[in-house]
Amino acid sequence: MEMPEAIPVCYCENPAKLNTSWSNNNPGRRFFGCKKFGSKFRKPCRFFSWFDPPLTPHSRIVLLGLLKKVRTLEDARKRERRTWLLVLSVHIIINGLSWMALE
Ligand SMILES: [Zn+2]
Repeated sequence: MEMPEAIPVCYCENPAKLNTSWSNNNPGRRFFGCKKFGSKFRKPCRFFSWFDPPLTPHSRIVLLGLLKKVRTLEDARKRERRTWLLVLSVHIIINGLSWMALE
């Protein structure tokens, strides 16, 4: 992966941080931002500068399609995990009950 040659210094004189955007307009596009960005800081710093060039419309569509697939698969995996935990819980309860019946 291409790395920055020089790290810009932001408005608050801190070295800017390289982040990756996951917005629908710029999926995977890297930008420099300040670690003090955001309203949780008393004096938030609004420094922002793109590092990567803009995505072509085609690569944006391809990336968004892939992201959607990944999220769908992750959701399916979570549902599967919940089902197995439920099966396991029911199994433990039934076995526990049959043990109690034996005693
Ligand atoms: Zn800053």
